[in-house]
Amino acid sequence: MNGLCESSEPAEQECVVMKFGGTSVQDASSIRGVCQLVKKALPRRPVVVVSALARVTDQLLNVGLASAEGRLDLVAEILHLLRQRHEAVARDLVAGDEYGCLYEELAAEFKALEAAANGIATEKALRPVSQDRLLGAGESLSSRLVEASLRSVGVDAALVDARTCVITDAAHTRATPLWDDTNGRLQAVLVPLLESGRVPVMGGFVGATRDGIPTTLGRGGSDFSASIVGAGLHAERIEIWTDVDGVMTADPTLCPDARRVPRMSFDEAAELAYFGAKVLHPATLVPAMRCNVPVWVLNSRNPDCAGTEIVAHCENDGRINSGWNNDGQVKAVTAKRGVAIVDIEPVRWFAPELLREVFDVFERHQHSLELLSASRGSLALLVSSVTALPAIAEELKGMANVRWENHKALVCLVGEQIRRHPEVAGQAFRAIGDIDVRMICQGASERNISFLVDESRAVEAVQRLHRSFFPVPAPEPLVETISSHAMCQAEGAWG
Ligand code: ASP
Ligand code: MG
Repeated sequence: MNGLCESSEPAEQECVVMKFGGTSVQDASSIRGVCQLVKKALPRRPVVVVSALARVTDQLLNVGLASAEGRLDLVAEILHLLRQRHEAVARDLVAGDEYGCLYEELAAEFKALEAAANGIATEKALRPVSQDRLLGAGESLSSRLVEASLRSVGVDAALVDARTCVITDAAHTRATPLWDDTNGRLQAVLVPLLESGRVPVMGGFVGATRDGIPTTLGRGGSDFSASIVGAGLHAERIEIWTDVDGVMTADPTLCPDARRVPRMSFDEAAELAYFGAKVLHPATLVPAMRCNVPVWVLNSRNPDCAGTEIVAHCENDGRINSGWNNDGQVKAVTAKRGVAIVDIEPVRWFAPELLREVFDVFERHQHSLELLSASRGSLALLVSSVTALPAIAEELKGMANVRWENHKALVCLVGEQIRRHPEVAGQAFRAIGDIDVRMICQGASERNISFLVDESRAVEAVQRLHRSFFPVPAPEPLVETISSHAMCQAEGAWG
């Protein structure tokens, strides 16, 4: 992570990074909404980062898979639909000569896409490097649409190819930025544009190696791009515009009473992202955190909502999270599904060598461990995929017996210093004590307590915990005995 934020930091750039996710740019009317938001932000010097139009990245991936399998009819059909959709959006957004130019640009992008698909078909395999070339096209297309649309409403937008400034290693499909190169390029490319009063528009998710080979930052990586740009420019803030009101106390589709978390710390947000909350890509916060640039999660469909502010330190502020639970100790409840628990029982006794061997074997199989708990007699691990476990068990044969159970979920409570408040665990137990809890983890981080349950009970566990820690405000008591005059006074006093 060297070089992410040099010690002799350049002065804070007066700019804000505004990142718009796929649903915020899914059609012409959404893009028009984005343009209004950017226009309003002009005095704060916005840098715009966009995702591909909603669902486009998945469709491009299907193009890649179908090409590799030689299903060329399907490839042609998906590409045709993609092209129609982008052209229709373009036509709706801009007219006349502007449309003509945009049409030519889109045509060139689709020509390159066809060539990439043909290449994959010839190779009969979707190599990571080809996948990156293909998937990155979604952001090239969307950034062109947004740039043209901004211009059409009088904003002096400048298209920036992210591959010229986000420089990464060659770990295709999950590349990591080379920070010194990237920060240097971001400064060199974006600062002059900002200084001349222009609004840079770039695609998220994509980068390129030093040799210019396109890479991607992993699915959902546009948030990460925004954070990379914000950190590289020492922006005033990074805004992640999405389709929910901010980080919520739980997934609103599971808990309709979920409410917006007004403010939380980077660590809490990172923990939430890691443990399954979908609102932010888990890597997003790293650059912002290192460079201490606040991140805001905002709703492009409800721009007047204050959103969630994510900052370095967020002591539990009774005023902000007041009346929620234990003075707002718990910020959110989440669940990570598809987890398996692996029991490793030594054949003879538990020796430190075994631990080392276990780590080595998992690493050799490139199998990441989620959590670990050890006792005198055995070792329990949590993993999110079981594919390599038979081979791992085979390798450990003679040293340990390996057994695993699939279809578990890790239900987590997240909040600063949650562990220092034993009453939180007590309350959680009262809420889900009758659900079979296979394992409790509150060791590794101050900010989370998690419970391993059967996946089939995960939703119920989240709902019960949420109801317990975020009770719906009790209905107002009927105050018939108080006169309306007294009521007015009461309102005046507290209202
Ligand atoms: N378009 C990319 C994806 O769907 C990146 C992003 O939207 O964040 O994964
Ligand atoms: Mg996203």
